[in-house]
Amino acid sequence: MKFIIATNNEKKLVELERILNPLGIEAVSAKEAGVVLDDVDETGKTFFENAYIKANAAFQKTGMPAVADDSGICVDALDGRPGIFSARYSPEDCFTDEDRTAKILEELEGVPDEKRTAHYTCAICCILPDGKRIEIEEICEGKIGYSFIGDGGFGYDPIFMQGDKTFAQLTAEEKDKVSHRGKALRALKRELEEEFSL
Ligand code: IMP
Repeated sequence: MKFIIATNNEKKLVELERILNPLGIEAVSAKEAGVVLDDVDETGKTFFENAYIKANAAFQKTGMPAVADDSGICVDALDGRPGIFSARYSPEDCFTDEDRTAKILEELEGVPDEKRTAHYTCAICCILPDGKRIEIEEICEGKIGYSFIGDGGFGYDPIFMQGDKTFAQLTAEEKDKVSHRGKALRALKRELEEEFSL
């Protein structure tokens, strides 16, 4: 079964393809499927709702089973912000991933180490050919650092730390092993195996 990955975010697409295909889940981008996915309004109030909106739009447009990811970073000292708004945090003064990441550092100025806890969340919505939904949510806990370190990953990875390294300092393999997205997609694989009695 071939799934369409319901995203136009190039960096997220790279991670989704990189994790799904070795798991034996054949997943293609819109480009590979020869379709153009319209950007959808993420009007949901939760990661799950937004993942469903994206997966369903791709499923309706292509008729293919679809996988979508809605994800973000939740910072405890900021009452869980930016959360579902991670890709569009503080739009009045932030225009790029770097701006949004710098904004968090600025907001955490003076916040001590023990209060810099945060987690990434990844909600996956997978729509099967008969319209049935599989939904999974996983988190990855860490801390917010004090400056940008590393040039791997994307988004908030240069300030998201586990131990003494940021996610941007990890290899792709190291990140996927512990990341919210890696965990969620491996759980999806297990659910698909159950669904199809593999
Ligand atoms: P979405 O397209 O609404 O799901 O936006 C997800 C946003 O959350 C991304 O644009 C990033 O800002 C952030 N994000 C999610 N996962 C990661 C990750 O693995 N690393 C860094 N940032 C992430």
